[in-house]
Amino acid sequence: MGEQIQEQTKPFIYDYTLEELQAWVKDNGEPAFRAGQLFDWLYVKRVRSFDEMSNLPKAFRQKLDDQFAFVTLSEITKFESKDGTVKFLFGLHDNHAIETVVMRHNYGNSICVTTQVGCRVGCTFCASTLGGLKRNLTAGEIVAQVVWAQQLLDATNERVSSIVIMGTGEPFENYEPTMNFLRIMIHEKGLNIGQRHITVSTSGIVPNIYKFADENTQINLAISIHAPNDALRSKLMPVNRRFPFNDVMESLRYYIAKTGRRITFEYALIGGVNDRPEHAEELAQVLQGMLCHVNLIPVNHVPERNYVRTPRDDIFEFQRILEKHKINATIRREQGHDIAAACGQLRAKHMESTAR
Ligand code: SF4
Repeated sequence: MGEQIQEQTKPFIYDYTLEELQAWVKDNGEPAFRAGQLFDWLYVKRVRSFDEMSNLPKAFRQKLDDQFAFVTLSEITKFESKDGTVKFLFGLHDNHAIETVVMRHNYGNSICVTTQVGCRVGCTFCASTLGGLKRNLTAGEIVAQVVWAQQLLDATNERVSSIVIMGTGEPFENYEPTMNFLRIMIHEKGLNIGQRHITVSTSGIVPNIYKFADENTQINLAISIHAPNDALRSKLMPVNRRFPFNDVMESLRYYIAKTGRRITFEYALIGGVNDRPEHAEELAQVLQGMLCHVNLIPVNHVPERNYVRTPRDDIFEFQRILEKHKINATIRREQGHDIAAACGQLRAKHMESTAR
């Protein structure tokens, strides 16, 4: 991957799963093992051009170059936090910008990827949705975010150990590219990220929760719930009018029954809106008996919405109430606080400055 933004006329090589590359290789009359070699160059050796794939015949490299594009991202800015978090603003070939974050934990390096340019879901506490949805990312554009992060970590002999699909966008509104991205990430002949180290987060696109449950993977599912009832959730998340609270809960029960896996409920605490003890009590009643975990996320100040942060003691009180009812709850540790505020704000600032 280079620094230039290129006119995009060809599909990205990173769009393809190993099985799809095998089919392409076969259709092009090449020996089957070429697909494995290609996949190895992309995800194990992580080269940045077809030219570097030295064990592939020159004519085959030329054919690849004619048919596929390699460059998918260009780095507009990169911010590094004192705690090691790195936040990228990447440019795409059509001049859109996306954010990707690499977080350093004591248990490994986690990367947060984006699946859409903007988002149409409209959660009221989220900066990413303010300009609506511009377009879906291809699988390759999601893959490239991880490859880029891994190339950064290669310099210090580290690896991407986990992935969260929690950047901009609703992955279940860009379902197939997201699934192909996952197939590429978990492939044992590629980056080989453990399925249990990957989390997909949805705002509750019910039909695709059922579909995902039937995919038969070990990948974790998180759901942005943010309210303990239908009325309040509709106020905070317009998507709840399309897929009401009870339907979401039913689809999650199906997911748990089908997979035996624990769900993570993401709950953004907004001062005075959904963070009162009665909200915690109601949430505990709804989640009673479910195989789940609640992740409390104190929101940052959102000037456009007049939202304020929940006081520290109230955050702990909310957690205490859930735990009193035997609902496991944690408070999200914030990272990269000094570099770029919440999700979507870097891109929002960039859009503002390019519009001027
Ligand atoms: S929180 Fe996620 S789903 Fe909701 S608007 Fe923002 S990007 Fe979209």
